[in-house]
Amino acid sequence: MEELLLDWYARECRDLPWRRTRDPYAILVSEVMLQQTQVERVIPRYVEWLERWPTADTLAAAPLADVIRAWQGLGYNRRGVNLHRAAQVVADHGWPDDLTELPGVGPYTAAAVGNFAFGRAELPVDTNVERVRARTGVTFTPNAAQALMDLGATICLARIPRCERCPLATACPSRGRRYEPRRKQSRFEGSFRQRRAATLRLVAERPRTLAELDTDAVTSLAADGLVAVGEGRVRLPA
Ligand code: SF4
Repeated sequence: MEELLLDWYARECRDLPWRRTRDPYAILVSEVMLQQTQVERVIPRYVEWLERWPTADTLAAAPLADVIRAWQGLGYNRRGVNLHRAAQVVADHGWPDDLTELPGVGPYTAAAVGNFAFGRAELPVDTNVERVRARTGVTFTPNAAQALMDLGATICLARIPRCERCPLATACPSRGRRYEPRRKQSRFEGSFRQRRAATLRLVAERPRTLAELDTDAVTSLAADGLVAVGEGRVRLPA
């Protein structure tokens, strides 16, 4: 099955900007952005980010407030803070052997950077990859990582897989099956996440008094290192 998959990938692979590099910093930026944001939204932001901060050294030297402003709109802003901290670790000490030592890097992101940048034999298993593995019953090798991600994202979809277009259909025991709707993601509208995002947007424009802001959101943002509070004013961290 892996051979069928790799043949398909050679013909159909998505042309994504982070696939044109093996630079670990660029790949880390893409993986952190992709953690909770869709590919189409990430592409322009990734390109802008690398134009502005092309290396871990340049990002490490940037003021944290600029990094937080640049992350606006991608959501889950703590990722930007962690990426900045990770760049500082790399700038000071180089890349650690165990990539999970970097702030914000869990086992999945570590395996992705390990494989795509350092050529390590590790298979990063995200929900797409796990779905294809479960449905086919095949243990794919790390060589198939990008191909599995594309198959899971474009063909072997969560609810109604496009088996008629799938390169694995002749051998897949799950072909033709339909699946229950996934649990809906919690709504952003009216959520605490939205209140945090709105509060951070206000503070990113200019420092504010506490009285102008949603205090619960400020407390939560301060705990994540996204804002600093002092003398009754709230600002981006120095
Ligand atoms: S045949 Fe269908 S279920 Fe099997 S891997 Fe392909 S898309 Fe997924």
